[in-house]
Amino acid sequence: MRAEARMNLGIDIGGTDIKFGMVDTANRIIARAAVPTPKASAEAVADAAAAGAKQLLTAHPAKTVGVGTPGIVTPDGRVSAANLPFADTPLADLIASRIGHAVALGNDANCAALGEAAVSGADDLLLVTLGTGVGGGIVSGGKLIVGAHGGAGEIGHMCLHAGGRACPCGKRGCFEQYASASALTAAAKAAADAHPNSLLAAYAKGGMDGRVFFRAIADGCPAAKAVLDAYLCDLAAGLESLRSIFDPAVIVLAGGITEAGDALLAPLVQKLGDAFPLKLSALRSDAGMIGAAVLGREAGAKHAD
Ligand SMILES: [Zn+2]
Repeated sequence: MRAEARMNLGIDIGGTDIKFGMVDTANRIIARAAVPTPKASAEAVADAAAAGAKQLLTAHPAKTVGVGTPGIVTPDGRVSAANLPFADTPLADLIASRIGHAVALGNDANCAALGEAAVSGADDLLLVTLGTGVGGGIVSGGKLIVGAHGGAGEIGHMCLHAGGRACPCGKRGCFEQYASASALTAAAKAAADAHPNSLLAAYAKGGMDGRVFFRAIADGCPAAKAVLDAYLCDLAAGLESLRSIFDPAVIVLAGGITEAGDALLAPLVQKLGDAFPLKLSALRSDAGMIGAAVLGREAGAKHAD
């Protein structure tokens, strides 16, 4: 067998890009590519995914192919997603038939958790992604927890405040209404409006985002600090609940907001205590590709049993 045929292709379908990574047995990406995600139809997404996959597969024959996608993924490889043209779409089959290779399909946050677990060597790991919403993936005993219908790990919709803020999911008080990056930006914007003479308001003249907010934090703005403190109280409460339920070896925080680094981590650790098993993702957006490759590898191993 050629050495390269032991590699695994990981494909991470996102709302903006489809990313491709050829991953070796040590979970390193040895070749990568990316194309924009078509929005027209599921077939167009499958076409783009297959075209990119074929290019990498020609240069680096792979043993297995794994794909991560937003949305709820059923055990038979069907997916429904809000921000992509998937409605009970047999995406695994659509891609597999185009590349002539079996495809393992998983939820993108679950794949990212698998990737973080594979690279860190932790058998019990929670991934918490702070973005527009809050996503999550649970690896327990070395295995991904997907639930009875593929919906496990939707930690953004666990209740943090009963009767609290309305959530698009139809419930109230969901974790992501308080702990997402969007929630932080919204609170920062409200604080800037309420304190027009603050540094935060001055910095936000061109628009509010995470960078503007953490610049105000770095410069000691009291209005920004009050927002961060309230945000971290809610985030910490959710992380405490998750730790109580899953007892992970480590909780990995990911998402663009983690680019703030210690400005986010240090005050959060202060609330949770030094013994709380928390770290920021080192893999960042590569976790999804690596995890998709791991998903494919594990599905391939199961097949071979
Ligand atoms: Zn919700």
